[in-house]
Amino acid sequence: MSKPLIGHLIAGQPYCDNGQRQPLYNPATGAVCGEVLLAQPATVERAIDAAQSAYPAWRDTPPLKRARVMFALKALLEAHADELCELITDQHGKVLHDALGELQRGIENIEYAAGAPELLKGDYSRNVGANIDSWSDMQPLGVVAGITPFNFPAMVPLWMWPLAVVCGNCFILKPSERDPAVALRIAELAQQAGLPPGVLNVVNGGREVVEQLLDDHRIKAVSFVGSTPIAASIYARGSAAGKRVQALGGAKNHAVIMPDADLDNAVSALMGAAFGSCGERCMAISAAVAVGDATADALVARLRTAMAELRIGSGRDNSNDMGPLISAEHRDKVIGYLQTGVEQGAELVVDGRDAQLPAAGYFLGASLFDRVDASMSIYRDEIFGPVLCLLRVPDLAAAMQLIDDHQYGNGTAIFTRDGEAARYFCDNISVGMVGVNVPLPVPVAYHSFGGWKRSLFGDLSAYGPDGVRFYTQRKTVTQRWPSSGVRDGISYSFPS
Ligand code: NAD
Repeated sequence: MSKPLIGHLIAGQPYCDNGQRQPLYNPATGAVCGEVLLAQPATVERAIDAAQSAYPAWRDTPPLKRARVMFALKALLEAHADELCELITDQHGKVLHDALGELQRGIENIEYAAGAPELLKGDYSRNVGANIDSWSDMQPLGVVAGITPFNFPAMVPLWMWPLAVVCGNCFILKPSERDPAVALRIAELAQQAGLPPGVLNVVNGGREVVEQLLDDHRIKAVSFVGSTPIAASIYARGSAAGKRVQALGGAKNHAVIMPDADLDNAVSALMGAAFGSCGERCMAISAAVAVGDATADALVARLRTAMAELRIGSGRDNSNDMGPLISAEHRDKVIGYLQTGVEQGAELVVDGRDAQLPAAGYFLGASLFDRVDASMSIYRDEIFGPVLCLLRVPDLAAAMQLIDDHQYGNGTAIFTRDGEAARYFCDNISVGMVGVNVPLPVPVAYHSFGGWKRSLFGDLSAYGPDGVRFYTQRKTVTQRWPSSGVRDGISYSFPS
């Protein structure tokens, strides 16, 4: 059977150039499952041209009509959910039930975008001066671009382009070159839903494509989600070129477990948040901070038991809890951290290399380190794999100090029955998204998603109300209609 070739989507049509082809792997088998075309510069040009040509008519299309495309797209995504989840699982590796959760969270962004007429209403003031009215309008920016990571190949693109296009922009999406199939398929379904040609274009590729998008003056704004070093460079390069940029980066998310926490609940929460999607989530909990040795000892004992029951295997088998990592290189990198952690003095309580794993594919079992401290690279770095580090602290203040001192500030959680402690934690912690007895506090589509510190470069978070602000620029009109025959004299003083 021939392997699929993932090309581009430009002006509503599939497009293939003579660019380089890169193999795509199924992480559960290690087998090549297709190829992706890396766009040539002329292809990126073509996509920008298509978006520019589509822009004037789309900008003037009533928001209600733009929103109706979203209703149709939601129905199509639901009807194609099985197919889309299989595309996610076969290229990313996550288990089908997890892929369905990702798709559902993506669809919620389409539901939010379907509120475009309400979201774009603006503000109106009558009689700001005698017979003078004023209003603020939220106008689109023009052609905007999105660059997305491998770990949520359906959801993260859906954080971006539906909201951007309902606001009247035209969009160029550059998905991860490691699992691009699902984003392209969703873009095809968007054409079927009635999105006019050129409003959404997909170009595949890597660094060169991104740099071309960043440097092209016709692209007015860039949304990026990926690792912190790349996010920082995208922010710097895009802003220097005069663009609006939001660049979301990596994370090290801490869960604080207080001595009074419901430990059964905390352990279940930690298992899902640390090892779901093989730890390849920017909101994964990768550091558990136990307050007091008794809490730490109890946690370690329960985690060890729960980890022995983890079902690891192909994402196509919905009875599994955890699939493979994205690539052989990434698995080797995570294994490297297991070795470094031991060398640096942490106690490897559960070693994922000892797990029973399928023979092929990029599998690695879940690992637990105890007695980790803040100097160790397993704690300082984002490992992005199924590795949970446990740190022991004497009190909540010490736990909060650790979190505040970390370079990342994406998500965090506290497990406790003490409302006063939880409220203090929420109020004072230097992190953008906080959970109380909720391990993955990913905001719903009608809030916004964004970390602090080196987890987000830019002023606005992704999607939700911040997304509307990001994809629009405010224009304020002040207007009067003087009665005919009535003429004002000249005034040289500032109007007040
Ligand atoms: P990545 O940074 O390697 O790649 C992200 C995107 O950038 C891809 O489309 C890739 O093609 C492109 N890219 C890669 N190198 C580039 C370069 N040198 N110049 C320009 N573009 C480049 O990230 P990844 O490995 O695909 O995804 C995992 C990372 O994303 C993790 O760090 C994770 O925490 C982060 N992430 C963050 C969030 C968030 O919301 N903060 C969400 C999901 C993932």
